[in-house]
Amino acid sequence: MKMLKKNDLILVGIILLLCIGFFAYRKMTEAPGSRVEVMMNGKLYDTLTLQEDTVYTVKGDNGSYNTFKITDGVVDMIDASCPDKLCVNQAGIHHNHETIVCLPNKVILEVVGAEEGEVDIIAN
Ligand SMILES: [Zn+2]
Repeated sequence: MKMLKKNDLILVGIILLLCIGFFAYRKMTEAPGSRVEVMMNGKLYDTLTLQEDTVYTVKGDNGSYNTFKITDGVVDMIDASCPDKLCVNQAGIHHNHETIVCLPNKVILEVVGAEEGEVDIIAN
């Protein structure tokens, strides 16, 4: 009986380790983006790296603006001149191809990953 309990504990320990390993692996393969592309009126306005924390303001023609910050690789809109403030209320983004859209100001923030080039090479 005593031996069996000890083996059970070892088994539970192994299962726990496997679970932790699985989640760690999932976390790594989630492919966080490495840059954010700022689009305005359908044109590329600027590209910023997610590796540096910063606060950036996109200025539109008739005095419109969108201010977003990058913290720990997460892009989050913190202020905007648009009336609906939908973009400000949106949660921060950091995964590949996630976007924050401000329709009134025609501003789009999209996270893009540097690994996309590598995918192309594999496809060829
Ligand atoms: Zn907006």
